[in-house]
Amino acid sequence: MDKLSKKQTQKIYSMATYYNENTVLFLNGAYVKASEAKMDFYSQSLHYGYSVFEGIRSYKTAEGETKIFKAEEHFVRLQNSAAALNMPYTWTATELIEATYETLAKNNLQDAYIRPVVYAPANMSFAKNEQSFIVIAVWEMQPFLGDKLLRVMTSSFQRPNPKGFKIHAKAAGHYVNSILASQEAKSNGFDEALLLDMNDTVAEGPGANVFFEKDGKLFTPAMGNILPGITRATVFEICDELNIEVEEKFFTTAEMKQADAAFFCGTAAEVIGFESLDDITFPLNWNDSVSRKIQLAYKDFVEQKGVASLSNEEAKKEEAVM
Ligand code: PMP
Repeated sequence: MDKLSKKQTQKIYSMATYYNENTVLFLNGAYVKASEAKMDFYSQSLHYGYSVFEGIRSYKTAEGETKIFKAEEHFVRLQNSAAALNMPYTWTATELIEATYETLAKNNLQDAYIRPVVYAPANMSFAKNEQSFIVIAVWEMQPFLGDKLLRVMTSSFQRPNPKGFKIHAKAAGHYVNSILASQEAKSNGFDEALLLDMNDTVAEGPGANVFFEKDGKLFTPAMGNILPGITRATVFEICDELNIEVEEKFFTTAEMKQADAAFFCGTAAEVIGFESLDDITFPLNWNDSVSRKIQLAYKDFVEQKGVASLSNEEAKKEEAVM
């Protein structure tokens, strides 16, 4: 086939804000131009959604450095996701973290979204593979769900049943469910969906975990039917620092609709409040909520400012060297 003309190539670039002709990817150990990178169209990942990925962010810190937030946690989850899907995994977190910093530097990015994907070779059968591949892409990203309070709709789609999927793995195929739910909410005039689990208790958003606030206390769905979010775990850390009570339990939307406030949290979404759920508007002024305190503390945490910037572990390490 003929190479694309420069005009055609520019048209493709202008459709996507993810890369341009200078963008560099980390691809199986090498740094290659995104516009020249290739993958196999016979990959089992493309045909069956059989790949695992991560969504990570880096931030420019208060000191002006680039810091990948919870880098180790994300690359450990990537490895666990691959193991859950029986995919070979030959990389260490350390080498992938190094490669990610290098990719950020090569693309002159500090505040960035980072997307590693582990994918399968050509294989049209369902048999296990002997090899996996990896790509790490980085790009600039605005807040995933915007920065205004969200009008959220209870989805008609349930989250995948953990008896049918390894729901704790961040597997590409699970995101067909997310896409359906998010598109349904948007086509009904809402900003985002809230999905229930197979027991009809609240699970999570298409790409974020959920919390609600009642009388100054936070509640979030217990583990089992949700992705174990790294931001969710960070909210627990922040609650610990700020002496905010938080409880994990299963609850219905009826209970959630009695809440004072609610928010989604995730690497891409960060912490973003709800204006409403279906026809219920949350009564507490967002700026007066404990949830807002969490939102501000999270921002400080990722940029390594203030008290909340040290997790207990990190604080202990700091004490040890002082
Ligand atoms: N649930 C789902 C379904 C997600 O896709 C995400 C985003 N990775 C989350 C929750 C939040 O996870 P994290 O805080 O680790 O980004």
